[in-house]
Amino acid sequence: MAFFDKPMSDIARDVQAGKASARGLCARALESAEGRGGELNAFITVCGESALKRADELDALPPDAKKKMPLCGIPIAVKDNICTEGIKTTCASRILESFVPPYNATVVEALLEAGAVVVGKTNLDEFAMGSSNETSYFGPVRNPRDPRKIPGGSSGGSASAVGAAAVPAALGTDTGGSIRQPSSHCGTVGLKPTYGRVSRYGAVAFASSLDQIGPIASNVRDIGLLLSVISVPDKRDSTCAGRQFADSEDLYNGDVSGLRIGMPKEYFGEGLSNEVRSAITPAADELKRRGASVVEVSLSNVKYAVATYYIIAAAEASSNLLRFSGVGYGFRASGAKTLDGMYSATRAQGFGTEVKRRIMLGTYVLSSGYYDAYYMKAAKVRTLIANDFERALESCDVILAPVSPSPPCNLGESDGDPLRVYLSDIYTVSANLAGIPAMSVPCKVSKGSLPVGAQLMTSKWREDLLLKVGSAIESGVF
Ligand code: GLN
Repeated sequence: MAFFDKPMSDIARDVQAGKASARGLCARALESAEGRGGELNAFITVCGESALKRADELDALPPDAKKKMPLCGIPIAVKDNICTEGIKTTCASRILESFVPPYNATVVEALLEAGAVVVGKTNLDEFAMGSSNETSYFGPVRNPRDPRKIPGGSSGGSASAVGAAAVPAALGTDTGGSIRQPSSHCGTVGLKPTYGRVSRYGAVAFASSLDQIGPIASNVRDIGLLLSVISVPDKRDSTCAGRQFADSEDLYNGDVSGLRIGMPKEYFGEGLSNEVRSAITPAADELKRRGASVVEVSLSNVKYAVATYYIIAAAEASSNLLRFSGVGYGFRASGAKTLDGMYSATRAQGFGTEVKRRIMLGTYVLSSGYYDAYYMKAAKVRTLIANDFERALESCDVILAPVSPSPPCNLGESDGDPLRVYLSDIYTVSANLAGIPAMSVPCKVSKGSLPVGAQLMTSKWREDLLLKVGSAIESGVF
């Protein structure tokens, strides 16, 4: 099920030609965001008034101006850790419950310039820390295919909204899998771009050396279009490389002949459920049938990836989240007698359990005496993991792997067991540690089963290869 029955680019052309109206599309998206989106708790804010006003402005533009807008009139949802001017941006945390940013993130500016309409802000794990979307201050999000199940996290609201066809596309952020894993669980396509492809300006920082903003949509072609729009150069983020993605029709012809697909043996061993394994194997067969060759590759250090990721991500989070002190932004606890007392009461009451756990873990691994033993060691292992990928990608063009070890579990099932949740990130965190692009594409599953995504990874700046291979898998599915 998808919001549109054709690619977004065709719909934008209909709006440009006056065959569809931005207002009509926006009104439909708002209704489903409030209706179906409400049942799933996918949105923290639905922007009824401002979205309709914007849609009317677009409809009133002269045809020449509309023609310059590749997303003319397309309703889009934005994860609630990405700043939107005049619209609350909460990070699903009490500490930012009523924070209204005075500026737009670069990606939001780019979307608006391309003619998109922001219809709402989606729910997430608090500060994007989690893999199930159960750590949100605003309550858990539900899976659109089975509301008893988790949608995955942390961009669970974005994936759930797109999976339920409440909106055609959404933005998410991915620090260790938060775009790919919920996409896998909700039957959507989700891309984490190369680190530095998309500006992070205006995305509330979790772990700055790992965070990337990326698109979630119902098909691979829409992902390519969105990436080309949001990957604008940006001087305000010094890690933004200024390499705008050039989209091209040829990427979607399903032709993968001559491409070498690598399947890492470490990703198909112990711990992978049969449901996921049996969904990925036909994807590999489909690629072979279309002329690709499939080879085995090895990533010998990925067994350390979860430990490495949770040290580095927590360390960076503990530093980034220092700014939430009750002074500059959002919530401030009342009644404290001293400045220090105000800081600690604000943070104690403002942050949830998972965020506090990360801050404590991060502060510990950075503290003198432990820095060398943990943080420094993790930084070195990170380089080994990146080298593993570089080596593997010499003998193949694209890596095919699972996204998540198992299909989505029931809501509440991992309560009180953070380690179990951390381990579910085993196949996704490495791409962030290595800075390479990675995408989740739905596989063919038997009728009535929950969705399963295949993960594609490749060398930096080669998102074109992910779209090409993803498109071939997708055409075997639909
Ligand atoms: N699940 C991972 C974590 O909890 C990744 C989250 C993310 O990518 N934002 O840190």
